[in-house]
Amino acid sequence: MSHSADLDRKVLAAVERLGRALRAARQDVATRHEVSLLGLSVIETLADGRPRRVGDLAAELDVSQPTVSDAVTVLDKRGLIRRDRDPADLRSTLVALTDDGDRLAAATATELAPLLAAGSGTDADRATTLRVLLGEIARLQAAGVITVNRSCLSCRHYQPPGPRTRARCLLLATALADRDLRVDCPEHEPIPA
Ligand code: SF4
Repeated sequence: MSHSADLDRKVLAAVERLGRALRAARQDVATRHEVSLLGLSVIETLADGRPRRVGDLAAELDVSQPTVSDAVTVLDKRGLIRRDRDPADLRSTLVALTDDGDRLAAATATELAPLLAAGSGTDADRATTLRVLLGEIARLQAAGVITVNRSCLSCRHYQPPGPRTRARCLLLATALADRDLRVDCPEHEPIPA
């Protein structure tokens, strides 16, 4: 095996291990609050205050629409989400958190916060890690593994760094150092095919 392939394998193994650890911790939090892991993801996604159609939630969470629909029905029965008519299309409904859902979102975010606290390495190390991981996410999206990706590296407004220029967001007219890259940006627009 070449050095490069060996490094790829180790990076993948490390990301997988991190993913398993985070999944186990999230499962603990979900179980404590008597919601499924997918239900927790729905609540976390809606915590940004932006109502969504069930189909949009399914795409963002990379699960089928019937699967997310079942999770939403359970959350609805618990009074954690509400369904409102979509003003843009009265045949559709939008899903949003109720006050109880907001409280649950805040509680789970607090419980998960220690896990997400600054890890090892310097700020510069972590900023580089962020850029590399966002690059991998963009690659997986291009390969069709990930459906929705609203990060800078997949955005039409992102201007990569040049030999003498820094990366920029052309929409917000601001420089984007690695540490400033957004993972889930409300202004994101996909790069046209
Ligand atoms: S609009 Fe958002 S996602 Fe796009 S480049 Fe600017 S900050 Fe990044």
